[in-house]
Amino acid sequence: MIRIILLSFCLAYSLPCFSKSESKCFGGTANGKLENGWQLPSSGKNFEAYSSLGVVAGRTYVHSKVYRVILAAYKNLEQSNPTVTYIYGETGFEHGGRFKPHKTHTNGLSVDFFVPVINSKGKSEQLNIGITNKLGYNIEFNTKATYNDLTIDFESIAKHIDALNTAAIKEGIGISVVIFDNEFQKQLFLTPTGKTLKNRIAFSVKKPWVRHDEHYHIDFKVGCTH
Ligand SMILES: [Zn+2]
Repeated sequence: MIRIILLSFCLAYSLPCFSKSESKCFGGTANGKLENGWQLPSSGKNFEAYSSLGVVAGRTYVHSKVYRVILAAYKNLEQSNPTVTYIYGETGFEHGGRFKPHKTHTNGLSVDFFVPVINSKGKSEQLNIGITNKLGYNIEFNTKATYNDLTIDFESIAKHIDALNTAAIKEGIGISVVIFDNEFQKQLFLTPTGKTLKNRIAFSVKKPWVRHDEHYHIDFKVGCTH
């Protein structure tokens, strides 16, 4: 009886309580693989996946440690940034490996997050993601960080990265790098929370191979077998 109650509790809260082994990662983010990948919940109180198609296609698996870090950060943001619903993007396959069109995302440690936005009235909104904009990745922000009437909410990005970093340290892992448009990084570092990130977290310095304007990519640091 207790087992049944526990099981329904686990299912209701998408908790991996039974028979879920810890993940094991191999190689680097660009040439690795993953054992026992965990699929992120498609939605929660203050977050959702970029696309149900992506979820069904099995494109939202991560390393178990990264899984816990992502959910702990969202939990923290329920208090620290309650008006924002965050969207995460592509992560990787259950067993890792080549993940086109991405160059990395092969060993469960790479995660894309779509930028939170505010509308012209200053209210938090969510990007309209669908097939027409290649599941969000074709959305282009101009140099003023706006797209239609939406502007990137840099402080909410900073709070998210801060929460991820705190959760990663608690989990005994870390953030290896945050890849984000070089110009937008400057705007991020002007926000109250962003200011505090600059010297604590590694951000991409070189111009990335695709413009990371509509999403920020994070590689987590987990000891993998090489
Ligand atoms: Zn990415």
